[in-house]
Amino acid sequence: MSTIKAAVCHEFGAPLTVEDVVLRGPEMGEIEVTLKAVAVCHSDISFAEGAWGGSLPAVYGHEAAGLVTNVGAGVKGVAEGDSVVVTLIRACGTCPSCSGGKPVICQTPYDGDKGPLATADGRKLHQAMACGAFAEKVVVDQSQVVKIPKDIPMEAASLIACGVITGIGAVVNAAEIRAGQDVVVIGAGGVGLNAIQGARIAGARRIVAVDMSEEKLAIAKEFGATDGVLATDKKPYVQALRAMGRGADAVIVTVGAIPAYDLAPRYLAPGGKIIMVGMPHSGAKSTYEPVVLAAVGQGMQGSKMGDVVIKRDIPWMVDLYKQGRLKLDELISGRWTLDQINDAIADTKTGSAKRNVILFDT
Ligand SMILES: [Zn+2]
Ligand SMILES: [Zn+2]
Repeated sequence: MSTIKAAVCHEFGAPLTVEDVVLRGPEMGEIEVTLKAVAVCHSDISFAEGAWGGSLPAVYGHEAAGLVTNVGAGVKGVAEGDSVVVTLIRACGTCPSCSGGKPVICQTPYDGDKGPLATADGRKLHQAMACGAFAEKVVVDQSQVVKIPKDIPMEAASLIACGVITGIGAVVNAAEIRAGQDVVVIGAGGVGLNAIQGARIAGARRIVAVDMSEEKLAIAKEFGATDGVLATDKKPYVQALRAMGRGADAVIVTVGAIPAYDLAPRYLAPGGKIIMVGMPHSGAKSTYEPVVLAAVGQGMQGSKMGDVVIKRDIPWMVDLYKQGRLKLDELISGRWTLDQINDAIADTKTGSAKRNVILFDT
């Protein structure tokens, strides 16, 4: 049991409060990680705004890295002192999804109300996304953690936990892009830039970034986009088709804005597919013409967390970073302390292309 500082959401839409909370030690199969870095993801912001409901008070934060400081009974492959990435991908290992190689859609429910957190006076405190990483420490299931080399900067490692695996995985695991194919990425934000990197790593021929801002399109090119199209154009898909000389094999939609979903099929080649990665608010609906998809064999597919298998994919991405083939440092736009978290969130909401990271200097 330890008392730690955490950023707590008491009311949807209100600023987070940095306060003392109680974290119990790791139980069977759990790991305690003292965090060094946690990035602010748009999902954290949507949760804090009440976009998807959920229990309150709650601690969000799910894109983290740190040092293992305690392990529960039965933990294998990770020991005290190890550097780790902490993800929200809690997988039971035995349900049909886990058994089928899809741990990101594990079917065993987890109740964050009964997690390791409590308020300072011993009341319920929700561990959001099985993580609760806007805090000095977390206690998570061993399935959520991947050991990384000591020489990886923690701020870079934290980004891998969500934005990087989601973007690269959408292209490599979900779209299964192979060398020579064409990819359109809608939205050049934290996930979109990583989808662009994923397409480059997969050997795509043309990688077309679509975004509302010229500035973000310029950044997209630094990450591997071959062409940029302004989403504010009347028919952005016409510009994209012109750039590719044909339709796209995959359109990766990384934003939550509904018009992006409505227009996504227009970019596709026959046989192409839309990969839906963005997280619109609950209740938002898109429309499309099913006959077109049926006539030319196109598909639509949701992809959660890049369909990753973290213990397979994260070491791969870490190695690409060490070789200079995956940009992580360049994804960071701001560094903040936990006390500044509301400012970091406000900055992220301005729509800046990259990630804000909270650093813990303990
Ligand atoms: Zn996230
Ligand atoms: Zn499972």
